[in-house]
Amino acid sequence: MKRTAVAGLLLLGLAAWFLLDLGQYLTLDALKAQQSTIDGFYQANPLQVLAIFFLVYVVLTALSVPGAVILTLAAGAVFGVATGTVLVSFASSIGATLAFLASRYLFHDAVQARFGTRLKPVNDGVARDGAFYLFSLRLVPVFPFFAVNLLMGLTPIRTWTYYWVSQVGMLLGTVVYVNAGTQLARIETLGDIASPGLLASFAALGLLPWLGKWIKAAIVRRRVYARWQRPRRFDRNLVVIGAGAAGLVSSLIGATVRAKVTLVEASKMGGDCLNYGCVPSKALIKSARIAEQMRHADRYGLEASDPRFSFKAVMGRIHDVIAAVEPHDSVERYTGLGVDVVQGYARIVDPWTVEIARNDGTAQRLTTRSIVIAAGAEPLVPDLPGLAESDYLTSDTLWDEFARLDEIPRRIVVLGGGPIGSELAQAFARLGAQVTQVERGTRLLPREDHDVSELARAAQEASGVTVLTGHEAIRVENGQDKHLIVSGEGHQKVIDFDALIVAVGRKARLSGYGLEELGIETQKTVVTDEYLATIYPNIYAAGDVAGPYQFTHTAAHQAWFASVNALFGQFKRFKADYRVIPWTTFIDPEVARVGLNEQEAGERGISCEVTIFPMHELDRAIADSATTGFVKVLTPPGKDRILGVTIVGDHAGELLAEYVLAMKHGLGLNKIMATIHTYPTMAEANKYAAGEWKKKHTPERLLQVVERYHRWRRG
Ligand SMILES: Cc1cc2nc3c(=O)[nH]c(=O)nc-3n(C[C@H](O)[C@H](O)[C@H](O)COP(=O)(O)OP(=O)(O)OC[C@H]3O[C@@H](n4cnc5c(N)ncnc54)[C@H](O)[C@@H]3O)c2cc1C
Repeated sequence: MKRTAVAGLLLLGLAAWFLLDLGQYLTLDALKAQQSTIDGFYQANPLQVLAIFFLVYVVLTALSVPGAVILTLAAGAVFGVATGTVLVSFASSIGATLAFLASRYLFHDAVQARFGTRLKPVNDGVARDGAFYLFSLRLVPVFPFFAVNLLMGLTPIRTWTYYWVSQVGMLLGTVVYVNAGTQLARIETLGDIASPGLLASFAALGLLPWLGKWIKAAIVRRRVYARWQRPRRFDRNLVVIGAGAAGLVSSLIGATVRAKVTLVEASKMGGDCLNYGCVPSKALIKSARIAEQMRHADRYGLEASDPRFSFKAVMGRIHDVIAAVEPHDSVERYTGLGVDVVQGYARIVDPWTVEIARNDGTAQRLTTRSIVIAAGAEPLVPDLPGLAESDYLTSDTLWDEFARLDEIPRRIVVLGGGPIGSELAQAFARLGAQVTQVERGTRLLPREDHDVSELARAAQEASGVTVLTGHEAIRVENGQDKHLIVSGEGHQKVIDFDALIVAVGRKARLSGYGLEELGIETQKTVVTDEYLATIYPNIYAAGDVAGPYQFTHTAAHQAWFASVNALFGQFKRFKADYRVIPWTTFIDPEVARVGLNEQEAGERGISCEVTIFPMHELDRAIADSATTGFVKVLTPPGKDRILGVTIVGDHAGELLAEYVLAMKHGLGLNKIMATIHTYPTMAEANKYAAGEWKKKHTPERLLQVVERYHRWRRG
């Protein structure tokens, strides 16, 4: 309502301006003709004239109507350079800020909602360098004054910044035009005031802030390196620390472009994913799934049976799977690909030198042009009384510890309701353990939408997991029997356990290998810029150690940017691109997501349409008795562009790939709907979700006309 009133007021002002042809009074000729009258009036009533002039200037600029140049000349002609400049400088800045505020009030939210994440780079750029952009635009008077006001209103720049940068930026131009006004009689056209030469000088001035910024960056660069002695020659082009997904890909890219690369790994090649993460957990999930299918075989007309198995064999298979994948990440493979692989612990001693304590007991020092830190992350262990003495397990230790057991522990507590905790809890419950999953927050998988969390909880409970959300672990009691004490719902509970798995998150490895000594900034991860460079432009970070994601595929994705920038950054650097990042939680049913979900859209004020296709309507899902879940697609209102997708269901991680491709290459739901999908597949759910969206956007009017046409044809 208020918004309509403001829009109405502005439209009224603009209509009055054009209908009453007020522009006729703001021409060079009209000004010259009226100059002596205005002069006389000013001599008689100086304060009144100053006030009226100021007000008129503010209103005209706020309304974005043409005429500011003439008014500026008038200020020079009537009030002289000093008074005219002060008056115009404040009036134009206030008017500009009012126009900016009107644009922000009327259009900002709609534009941001309409373009969603596509505006993120612009928003980030303005948040970082908005004052610079604005200053340049203001210094160069060829950019239309009103357009700058209206456009900047759509960005997140702060109002006060907008005001003062505008005033400072426009000052020089104001002086030039006010001064020209003192010589009004000699001006024939507006072009006489600002010659091309003068405009070019303004443009050059506009570049000054950027030059300043570049010089500042060069000084900062010099300063960070100042205390180090740069080697004359380098042993390597690139040294990569850590041979997980990020390190392997970084070194591979380096070797592929024929750089001399050393990859240093202190522990196992392949890092967390191969040895403690994705690979063993997915191998475990497969066994658990089969056990669950046996238990519920009657759903398929077969005889249900309690799965009988050797836990040792299940864990043995997991290690076999790791061993089968191992050659892909092995020293031999990478050596064959041209990477110098060193097994040992790396420490950065200066920006160009890495010292390696080799596993064979020797030490090695390598000088290098660039370094990629890919040291990964490790399980976060909370500071819980009694935990240290409880023989607790984490994803780092459980694979070996459980492999030693003949039987699965009878009672398992999993601490943590995120993806890792949920996957492990469900799998061990399906293998017959009594599993209690404890989560401090109110729901499982808190990054996902509420409906997803509810399905996840139902799935855990259907697998036999006791889910305690809203419960905080207080302490562990270690005696003959071990107990976890949790508090929630107003009282404390005692949970007996034989194994306690801590899965409350993972923290980047940040200490012990030189970051502190070099002053490389860390928060929860190594702090990098958009190019993945640390404060040292030749030291980069990628993967879990750099964040913000903790996935194998994002580690590999970042590795490309880190290694290419590290090797070729002097020519061109690439910003890490996080626009389309998918992930999957491999509980059953799987939960897969790319882009926005409803929760994030709400938090970021992005308006969107939500289209849902439920799996229970899909033929293949019905045939497979896998009807739990849905495909949920977010699109901008009225558009088929995909902002985000969440899929819950069998093979959701595989189904998501189609939407990831579509988002990456700007394909909308119409394109997905027009694509043939094999019948009967789960992938058809993607097409049907697009169909649901289409149904909501049928051209009703046109169909009514077509209906009449058919009626007429029938006679
Ligand atoms: C149980 C579990 C399940 C997971 N499931 C999935 C999944 O399904 N999908 C998915 O995408 N992600 C999954 N992840 C996450 C995935 O494992 C990580 O995101 C990925 O391993 C990160 O790779 P990285 O290269 O950054 O680090 P890492 O794989 O941790 O590699 C870092 C390496 O650096 C070495 N290192 C550290 N410091 C030094 C040093 N100073 N000198 C020499 N070497 C050093 C370490 O020994 C380590 O090997 C899972 C993780 C866990 C724990």
